[in-house]
Amino acid sequence: MVEPFRRGNALATTFTGTLSERHGEPVERVPTPERLLDWFHENGLDVHSCTPRQLEHARELREAIHVAATAVATGSEPPASAVETLNRCSANGHASPALTDGGRVWRLATSSVADALSVVTADAISLLSGERDGRLAQCASPTCRAVFLDTSQSRTRRWCDMNTCGNRQKKARMRARTPAGGARRDV
Ligand SMILES: [Zn+2]
Repeated sequence: MVEPFRRGNALATTFTGTLSERHGEPVERVPTPERLLDWFHENGLDVHSCTPRQLEHARELREAIHVAATAVATGSEPPASAVETLNRCSANGHASPALTDGGRVWRLATSSVADALSVVTADAISLLSGERDGRLAQCASPTCRAVFLDTSQSRTRRWCDMNTCGNRQKKARMRARTPAGGARRDV
């Protein structure tokens, strides 16, 4: 079964969202090099080929971003190993932004996985350094704990995704509040 990709409001957290339910039964959404290519295309990154080794590198970067973002979201410093991975991936590829009718697109120097990962890393660095409007926050679902960019005005968003984690929690809460054999109104 092909797991659909999740959409987010930031490229880097959309990327970390390709592995979900990290604290439950993890769902890997890029199980093959082909699916990673699909993800790149869906996110405007024109990559031509991907080897199993490159997929492995991409996942390493993904987990480094996740670890660093989790640290920032919970008020601590990103571990040095994660920072090292990010800075390496940033320097390993080349891409330039181009202005088009539709807005900004990324032109990859060699259409390689490394180029695309440098774009994802640049996005991660801008999030981690706090230069974006929003706050990195951890999903309230105990099996998820994904990090997302909370851009709500009150900065009180709780779920990485309202349609998945938010909905599941809402249903669980309703089940817990409804005694067997009779409905109770939620107050
Ligand atoms: Zn979540």
